[in-house]
This record gives sequence, structure tokens and C-alpha cells, in this order.
Amino acid sequence: MQCPRCGSTHIRKNGIKQGKQNHICAQCRRQFIDEYDAPRTYSQEVKQHCLNLYVNGLGFRAIERVTGVHHTTVIYWVKTLGTQLASSPIISEIPKVGELDELETFVGAKKTKFGCGRQLTTSDREF
Ligand SMILES: [Zn+2]
Repeated sequence: MQCPRCGSTHIRKNGIKQGKQNHICAQCRRQFIDEYDAPRTYSQEVKQHCLNLYVNGLGFRAIERVTGVHHTTVIYWVKTLGTQLASSPIISEIPKVGELDELETFVGAKKTKFGCGRQLTTSDREF
């Protein structure tokens, strides 16, 4: 067993916490339970996918429905990414009608494309 903070293997037992064996690191005094679970985070792949959907006009709640990532998480990612840009505008509020654009795209595509009865896919937009 290793200390999750300093990686030391010099571990002592330190009583029971929440029904699990608690340990303490002799080196840095960090306490931890038997199976230490690292905080759960989304992979870079999932994050990239969500941001990609956002850039392509999908609303935060639509992204949540598609990917299962909570919309506040996506908002957080977009915000942090925005602050990393050199000339990012100051975001005062998050638009509430983000999905309206999606509807317009669909209606517009239907009018000019192949009539009715054909399933609209993203590749159709490239024509
Ligand atoms: Zn330690």
C-alpha cells in the first residue's frame, strides 16, 4: 500500500472510519482509507467531445442528454476554456435560448434539401 500524497509505503493503521480501515502515512501524516479512490474526472476525450458539441451550437442541456455529462460541468469547462483564450469577452450571463439555433438549422435544411421523409444527418449540412 502506498500513500496517495507522497507515495511512501511506510503506512500505519489508524482506526476504523466509516466502517473501513483507516491508515496514516508515517512520512507526511496523510490519512486515507483502505481503497483510496482518486477523484472521478472525465477523460480528455469526453471533455473534447462536449466542447465540440458546444462549439457546433448544441445547448448545454442537449449536450447533457447526448453525453450524460451534467450541464453545469460542461458550462464549467466552457468557462475555464474561455478564460484561457487571449481575447476572450467577459461572459456576464449564459444564454438561455441556445437550442433555438438548432431548430433553425433543421427547418432551413428541410426547405432547401431533399423534401420530406429523409432523415437529416450532419453530413447533409456539408452539401
Ligand atoms: Zn505520505
